[in-house]
Amino acid sequence: MIVVEDVHKHFGGFHAVDGASLEIEQGSITGLIGPNGAGKTTLFNVIAGVLKPTSGRVTMAGQNITGLPPHELFHKGLLRTFQIAHEFTSMTVRENLMMVPGGQSGETLWNTWFGRKRIADEERALLAKADEVLEFLTIDHLKDERAGNLSGGQKKLLELGRTMMVDAKIVFLDEVGAGVNRTLLNTIGDAIIRLNKERNYTFVVIEHDMDFIGRLCDPVICMAEGKVLAQGTLDEIKANEQVIEAYLGT
Ligand code: ADP
Repeated sequence: MIVVEDVHKHFGGFHAVDGASLEIEQGSITGLIGPNGAGKTTLFNVIAGVLKPTSGRVTMAGQNITGLPPHELFHKGLLRTFQIAHEFTSMTVRENLMMVPGGQSGETLWNTWFGRKRIADEERALLAKADEVLEFLTIDHLKDERAGNLSGGQKKLLELGRTMMVDAKIVFLDEVGAGVNRTLLNTIGDAIIRLNKERNYTFVVIEHDMDFIGRLCDPVICMAEGKVLAQGTLDEIKANEQVIEAYLGT
């Protein structure tokens, strides 16, 4: 689904991504691991259009998407989750979900004057969709809570929920488990597995928690020093000498 070919991303003289090549298969939950500073987040940002690569190529279903801005990738169903932006923390969970889809009729002046019924219909449909997403993620009891009051794990579920509002095809999740308790991490893991199995989502997940990676991800790709070191099941990766050396070296 996604092919990354010899991608480099330099910051001045520093090669954060240094010739990375990999493939993400449709329908997979691919784990991206590696020591701190390996270039995982930078590569994510290049694929998701947040950063332009210095060189190299990224294709999606055979189409060249190198350097396309995030909103164009969004329309192709490629999303990278971000922490809930500061200005959204005072809105409720449900309002946060309803903010996501673009291109609604309410956005143009013409429609403000002449399309009131259509806007009302769309808003009802959005509301129903938001409630369906909240139920799927088992956080419907939080719908009227301000996003800023959510725990770290609940915020991650909300980030995942935002991708469901637009029916994403491939979602890039960065550090899902950071600061999240075990119970919620399991809930997040369950939601990812269900989205993958029931809704055909492909996931790429950066995560340090190896239990989480082991439960969810096949294959696992290990990066170090801006390059892809190895790919395989978690057990194969753990037994790979180059991988062990990369982790010991940090
Ligand atoms: P990882 O996600 O694997 O921990 P990162 O992609 O965050 O690694 O970072 C890879 C390297 O690139 C790090 O050494 C980091 O300091 C450096 N880096 C990341 N972003 C920038 C930037 N905007 N400017 C300069 N250096 C950066």
